[in-house]
Amino acid sequence: MAACCYRAWSSQVKQQVNRLWRRSFTGSSHIETPLIFSDTFSKHLGADVFLKLDLLQPSGSFKLRGIGLTVKEAAAAGAKCIVSSSGGNAGLAAAFAARDFKLPCTVVLPTTTPESVQQHLAFYGADVMVYGSVWDEADRKAREVVEERQGAYVHPFDQESTWRGHATMVEELQRQLPSPPDAIVTCVGGGGLLMGILKGVEAAGWPSRVIACETVGANCLAKSLEAQEVVTLPQISSIAKSLGALRPSEAVFERCIRMDRALFRSAVFSDSQAVAACLRLADDHRLLVEPACGAAIAAVTETSEALQGMRSVVVQLCGGAVINRSQLAQWAVDFGLE
Ligand SMILES: *Cc1c(COP(=O)(O)O)cnc(C)c1O
Repeated sequence: MAACCYRAWSSQVKQQVNRLWRRSFTGSSHIETPLIFSDTFSKHLGADVFLKLDLLQPSGSFKLRGIGLTVKEAAAAGAKCIVSSSGGNAGLAAAFAARDFKLPCTVVLPTTTPESVQQHLAFYGADVMVYGSVWDEADRKAREVVEERQGAYVHPFDQESTWRGHATMVEELQRQLPSPPDAIVTCVGGGGLLMGILKGVEAAGWPSRVIACETVGANCLAKSLEAQEVVTLPQISSIAKSLGALRPSEAVFERCIRMDRALFRSAVFSDSQAVAACLRLADDHRLLVEPACGAAIAAVTETSEALQGMRSVVVQLCGGAVINRSQLAQWAVDFGLE
């Protein structure tokens, strides 16, 4: 094929794969992800374990489901730009989806944000604004930018449209599984993903138990449920930074506290157990995820009491883009897991 013909063909293919394919199947920026059966995890747990591969989402995490929908709806409502203050997977999802819907995106970050995050956001075409020394200051600035530019503010987890988007994960499971699983395991930061799953399970009419996993030092939901009121952690001491909300969403807390133990459990694992779960996933399935996601996998690898009696289990592999081989290897050394 001549070079010019190849270029035309290639741009057509990219458009098809990146846009037409996604839109025609999901109407949004996210993709429908595979559900695979895990032989090794099933053998370990003594139950059927399925892995929902949301780590394959184009922005690197499940966040594209919900934030993609929030951006899509903001675009339809006439927003002139998208504004986020997340230096993590929420910011990446906002930038990715904004590019998809041809909207400019501004991400306001504190001065402490690593250069690599800024580069990644810039790669998706976001305008990175560095403001303030802590997240609260950056977030206040972000809200000002929303006013100035007739933009739409995208919250990392506490938005109704974002919950609806996350619920698409369960809609896919309904097509991918012949019957409801006994349990769905997920991790929890502020609780947006959990809320989406609970809403999806309710809409499906499934009797499945949902297990909400956190790490020690990022366990704001577990602490709140224990205290029976929303608790604010003094700081995040876990390495699972994507779980690093100081307090859970009020709406999520209110929902979880009312749920029956048969249908909802909270579980907390150590950073070391979360990293061990990431290593196990890498070795058994050749997949790389953040320790935030490792917290959910740990329910299986640590044979959580919450999974007792469950015959079929889906683990939401939420993914996360803030990880690489050397970081995981370093944690393996730090926690004596080599
Ligand atoms: C955001 C995020 C979480 C936590 O999600 P919430 O909706 O805040 O509970 C977990 N894992 C990864 C990889 C994330 O990006």
